[in-house]
Amino acid sequence: RKPPSRKGSMADVPKDLLDQIKRLEELFTVPQEKLKEITDHFVKELAKGLTVEGGSIPMNPTWCMGFPDGYETGTFLALDMGGTNLRVCEINLPEEKGEFDIIQSKYRMPEELKTGNAEELWEYVADCLQQFIEYHHEGEELDELPLGFTFSYPATQDYIDHGVLQRWTKGFDIEGVEGKDVVPPFEAALKERGVPIKLTALVNDTTGTLIASAYTDTDMKIGCIFGTGCNAAYMEDCGSIPKLAHLNLDPKLPMAINCEWGAFDNEHKVLPRTPYDIIIDKESPRPGQQAFEKMIAGLYLGEIFRLVLVDLHGNPDVKIFEGQDLGKLKKAYSLDASFLSSIEEDPFENLSETQDLFQNKLGITTTKPELELIHHLTCLIGTRAARLSACGVAAICKKKSITSCHVGADGSVFNKYPHFKARGAQALREILDWTSRKDPIEILPAEDGSGVGAALISALTLKRCKEGQ
Ligand code: BGC
Ligand code: MG
Repeated sequence: RKPPSRKGSMADVPKDLLDQIKRLEELFTVPQEKLKEITDHFVKELAKGLTVEGGSIPMNPTWCMGFPDGYETGTFLALDMGGTNLRVCEINLPEEKGEFDIIQSKYRMPEELKTGNAEELWEYVADCLQQFIEYHHEGEELDELPLGFTFSYPATQDYIDHGVLQRWTKGFDIEGVEGKDVVPPFEAALKERGVPIKLTALVNDTTGTLIASAYTDTDMKIGCIFGTGCNAAYMEDCGSIPKLAHLNLDPKLPMAINCEWGAFDNEHKVLPRTPYDIIIDKESPRPGQQAFEKMIAGLYLGEIFRLVLVDLHGNPDVKIFEGQDLGKLKKAYSLDASFLSSIEEDPFENLSETQDLFQNKLGITTTKPELELIHHLTCLIGTRAARLSACGVAAICKKKSITSCHVGADGSVFNKYPHFKARGAQALREILDWTSRKDPIEILPAEDGSGVGAALISALTLKRCKEGQ
């Protein structure tokens, strides 16, 4: 079945809505030239983040110093504290190259916890670990198990088994954690429960993704997360990290850098922010932070969409959702990225799924032209996210003079949002002016960074300790 051309069906859309569609298209479309401008600025900001003075992108050294060779072995626990779930894993790395076995349990991260207090957070996390151990190792005499803790927030690390939280992201707002080392209170909660665990490495999810992907594919040079939040990590050499110069490390030693690129352009120099992006920032618990992330990450996509619709409804020149109760739509963060995914997946010819979603979830009865505007809006928001994301990937490649590699990506937006991969690949072609039939840099689904990656980094750390480095 061939979809009717959009222009054809748009002919029935009244002028006020058509004008708005055009306005939104202008607001949300990022043309090739703009992508290039953003990327060039991004390259400079990546370098700036590595200097002593620093910039808006933190560029955190992670003390993960090298890629795995595929022959790492041992049994490790991994704790994944992302933005949505809490996951505990036990990973076995056998003798065979690039192999692993994993068992895992997922726990819901209670919403109240994200804005509660530190003590409750660490108690909850320790309880989950204790439950996991009791369930999987009932009655066993256990030696202390090494743990890789995937803590997916910006942290300053002087050692791999410590980390001072720079600031919460992804809507977290737990008092008494920012500016402090997160490891001591975490370990104290474990000790109180007598849980036999030794934290070996505190890991960012992007670093985990980089290492887990490189374990099975040595072409992997960058690890990315496009999920609730967004970010990337890559391997730098210590000689190119001016802010570590005082440590006199061997300049050739590799060091994974957790970019924390969500903070790109916090000073608003290049990103094409819309009035909706400005509202998202103002209403967030950390205004002025994570400018790039707030235009791209899963946590915000549904909210951008919602803000546009509420704005259109409030505009006296636009007739939309007339006579409808917008009570539900007016609730902040009531729509998540999966809501947008479902709309994008809905065939444009009838949009009946979209109609049902609006009816059942929001209590809004929609007309055909409204549905077409809604569908168009999700495409614009999803496309912008994918295209801006590509600027970050292109910037790291340019900074490192990488002309061909694999990029390992994970996260709900990358894995589930329709067309995200293809739109990102298209943007990379536009930024880097490729004309060849095969893309030299490919963004591919990654191995499980927060589980297997954290275990591998723990294994690499223990090996490095043994070798006395
Ligand atoms: C965090 C990063 C993380 C990313 C993806 C961001 O909000 O600051 O540390 O890697 O989300 O989870
Ligand atoms: Mg995660």
